[in-house]
Amino acid sequence: MKAIDVIEKKQRNEILDYDDIKYMVNSYVKGKISDSTMSDFLWLIYNNGLTLKETIDLTDVMIKSGEEIDLSNIGIPTVDKHSTGGVGDKITLIVSPIVASAGVCVPKMSGRGLGLTGGTVDKLESIPGYKLNLSREQFIKALSTVGCAVISQSDKIAVADKKIYALRNEIGAVDSIPLIASSIMSKKIASGSDIIILDLKVGKGAFMKNLKDATKLAKTMVKIGKAYNKKVICTLSDMNVPLGRNVGNALEVREAMDFFSGKHDKRLYDLSVYISSLMISSAKNISFRKAKSIVINLLDNGHAKNKFYQWIKYQGGDITKLREKAKKYIVVSRKTGFVNSIDSDAIAQLVFDLGAGRKKKTDSIDYACGVILNKQLGEKVNKGEILGVIFYNKKVENMEEKFADAFDIEPRRKRVKNIIVDVIK
Ligand code: URA
Repeated sequence: MKAIDVIEKKQRNEILDYDDIKYMVNSYVKGKISDSTMSDFLWLIYNNGLTLKETIDLTDVMIKSGEEIDLSNIGIPTVDKHSTGGVGDKITLIVSPIVASAGVCVPKMSGRGLGLTGGTVDKLESIPGYKLNLSREQFIKALSTVGCAVISQSDKIAVADKKIYALRNEIGAVDSIPLIASSIMSKKIASGSDIIILDLKVGKGAFMKNLKDATKLAKTMVKIGKAYNKKVICTLSDMNVPLGRNVGNALEVREAMDFFSGKHDKRLYDLSVYISSLMISSAKNISFRKAKSIVINLLDNGHAKNKFYQWIKYQGGDITKLREKAKKYIVVSRKTGFVNSIDSDAIAQLVFDLGAGRKKKTDSIDYACGVILNKQLGEKVNKGEILGVIFYNKKVENMEEKFADAFDIEPRRKRVKNIIVDVIK
């Protein structure tokens, strides 16, 4: 077989066989075909798409390009949760201990953030001592002891995806539904959980900007999961407005701590309770309603909070020394009215300029910088009242204006829509 034959086949819009896809992916991983040839192939997929069967074949080849983790010895149901990433998204830090305290195991491998804000790994790195690189044995021991563990994505899982995703990033071929679906699902399936809950973000601060594309992506991922006998449920949640009040790595850990102490932002609470309930109801085969009452109970009686601290400590983190050292700049409102929108893209850009995100995987980041939104969606603000606080070590030009301009403050209060837009099973 030759790469050019597969490329020409795709150019003629013919359906690729498993062996065609396997040849392209494996040859690229082994360095037998060049970046430029692989880019041609990826661009054809980007422009012409893939059938569901081709997408499943691509997922399968990527799974088999690396190790697959066997979690069957843990003895309790395992549920993985994946978010496609958004502004202020600290859901993993909150739902993992909630679900673990209900007796469901949450094994989680997370990535570093690429783009405007940090990923879960960056948030956890703002806790001194937290060990992200556990061996497979240590990971399984942590899961058996604590019930949840969050480590960085193993280099050995879906090896082909790592190389292909980096190339897609470089050539600007990221936002293709079959490529995203196979990339995410290959890592999730190889990570070994019985159940996979996906939280697909939709809106300004997400890479899926509209509901139509997000729904198509969600349906594709659920169908890939079915092909592997995995239970996959995908929530579509709003990302036009940042999630919660804090955006920035250490600031988001701080918000998770506040959450467990009973200080809840409403939309963050709603989404955290919803996703935890979905995870528990799927794992225990109980109704969503019953799972939700378990979640609320675990939050109220402090068991979820205890699990949060147990988990961080078990992985070596000293949360009393959170990397929070930054100067504060208070921004006051120039208007009286109701907050009808907060542009998540603008907030993400500001937080990125402050130093919380990275362009390349090797870039360093400032864990302490970010913003706190004192006012959230639907809340009243008076002229001169504090709108929020900017945490910085390096000033950004016009940062006060950039922050204030992200808020849409109007005389009339608009209805605040539910953060969960849809659920695809
Ligand atoms: N996240 C992934 O892991 N892969 C993609 O292709 C996009 C987002």
